Amino acid sequence: MVEVDRDVVVVGAGFAGLYAVHKLREAGFSVRAYEKGDGIGGTWYWNRYPGARVDIQSVEYMFTKFAELEQEWDWTELMPKQAEIEKYLNWVADRLDLRRDIQLETAVEAMTFDESTSTWRVSLSTGETVVSRWVVAATGCLSAPIEPDIEGIHSFAGDTMFTNRFPKEGYDFTGKRVAVVGTGSSGVQSIPVIAQQAAQLYVLQRSAAYSLPSPNRPLDEGELAKLKAEYPEIRKAQWASPAGTARFGAVFQGGEMQLPSILETPWEEQLQRVDSLGVIAALVWSDVMTDIEANRAATRLYGEAIKRIVKDPQTAEDLVPHYPLGCKRIIIDEGYFESFNRDNVTLVNLRRNPIVRVVPEGIQLDEGLLELDAIVYATGFDAMIGSLSRIDIRGRDGRKLADEWAASPRAYLGLSVAGFPNLFTVTGPGSPSVLTNMVTSIEHHVEWITDCLTHLRENRLRTIEADPVAQDEWADHVLTFAGVPQTHESCNSWYLGANVPGKTRTYLPYAGGLTTYMERCAELTAAGYTGFALA
Ligand code: NAP
Repeated sequence: MVEVDRDVVVVGAGFAGLYAVHKLREAGFSVRAYEKGDGIGGTWYWNRYPGARVDIQSVEYMFTKFAELEQEWDWTELMPKQAEIEKYLNWVADRLDLRRDIQLETAVEAMTFDESTSTWRVSLSTGETVVSRWVVAATGCLSAPIEPDIEGIHSFAGDTMFTNRFPKEGYDFTGKRVAVVGTGSSGVQSIPVIAQQAAQLYVLQRSAAYSLPSPNRPLDEGELAKLKAEYPEIRKAQWASPAGTARFGAVFQGGEMQLPSILETPWEEQLQRVDSLGVIAALVWSDVMTDIEANRAATRLYGEAIKRIVKDPQTAEDLVPHYPLGCKRIIIDEGYFESFNRDNVTLVNLRRNPIVRVVPEGIQLDEGLLELDAIVYATGFDAMIGSLSRIDIRGRDGRKLADEWAASPRAYLGLSVAGFPNLFTVTGPGSPSVLTNMVTSIEHHVEWITDCLTHLRENRLRTIEADPVAQDEWADHVLTFAGVPQTHESCNSWYLGANVPGKTRTYLPYAGGLTTYMERCAELTAAGYTGFALA
């Protein structure tokens, strides 16, 4: 038997990495996690931009299997902000004594599978090499930032920032002339906060956003105590929900079960829904996600709702998207549309007035120069595969994961890639992950991996590897769930890889729901790990 430094190397120390260290250690495996950042938290370490907040309720956006521990943690808001989640994860790391098996400021740069010993040789940014039997890639779905391809981006003389690696010490926008480039979730969350500080804010929008007002509010002591008492029921409901969150929809839909068809509802009646619900009126129809004409009707209604908030008619019109509702994740904002009524906020529609280049003084637009002190890029990620594609990962016969995924970004069950034995991709392509509460999906994957390694150990097996045919069948199966708005020709989302030049256009996550997915995993496992080769 070959010597290994650790049974398992875990890559990353966000929700997934922390849980992996805990579960694997508990099962008796020796583990070491490597984290690029100088703190733990993953997404919640890097994305510390103003306004960063999760869109899941706090009491469900936490580990669900620590019945005692969860009673000790006090959330302060319905939907917690970045700093509180980062604090929670640090608290969990301390309470579970995870830090002794986590090495910070250490990036995994390369990994090679040694076929003669069935081990991974993992090369670290510190110059160390670690040999392990298994690797658990807890690298996150949205953790490989993309830098926009804008001429002169590095020539700006003022302050350049990216939401996905925002300065740890924060940034004071007071009195500054600022541009935010990008109006996805990160841009839309940060814009109302920056607007309150900046002397002048230019919002540079290429594609308008679908965004709903956040139901966030503080939790009072009595309410939290009541929720804590209900944790067992909340957890049960959460795990029975296809989205891994039982409390999300109820907030927006007010419990209404029978939704009418928008196509069969007269315009005046549609408008009455705007009267009572505002922009949310666009969502409360039965046919919007299945019929493209219904979807267009919903967009029209959404535009009507925006017109009632945004005073300047041209700005209101520019804020209406030209792609289907549901193509991208619907954003939850705190005063986004209202920000455009401020004297210091200007919307720049890049479709009419594109960026020519960045210059030392600011941003040169087709129609003139924006003189700026700071530029914030909220331009997104190479989602679901980028964090692993950027590591030099070599599997059987020296095959490179980045090359395999460039042609076809797939993983069996989103967990394992053919040709790369003993490597697990937590919430990888083909998993429900980003369409669900990430924490719940992460817990499921980590527990599945822990059970799998325990099975291998008990049966004296050394490798597990996805079968290429099973992997292809799974990828085809995943595509059957992608809906009308998600795959429409006018939809260019990161779910499709369409935000990264040259990335294969294919719907990456599994949209069949977490509960169905978990059942499938359980069936395949019980049948003897169908679709995997064990040796
Ligand atoms: P994103 O959704 O990919 O948005 C990127 C934005 O940048 C888009 O508006 C995009 O325009 C724009 N953009 C990209 N390149 C550009 C260029 N060269 N010039 C002008 N504009 C450019 O990224 P994100 O906002 O960081 O969000 C990513 C995901 O992270 C979200 O969908 C969500 O899942 C997650 N997230 C969640 C939360 C939350 O839960 N509260 C908060 C933040 C992020 P186009 O659309 O035209 O490409």
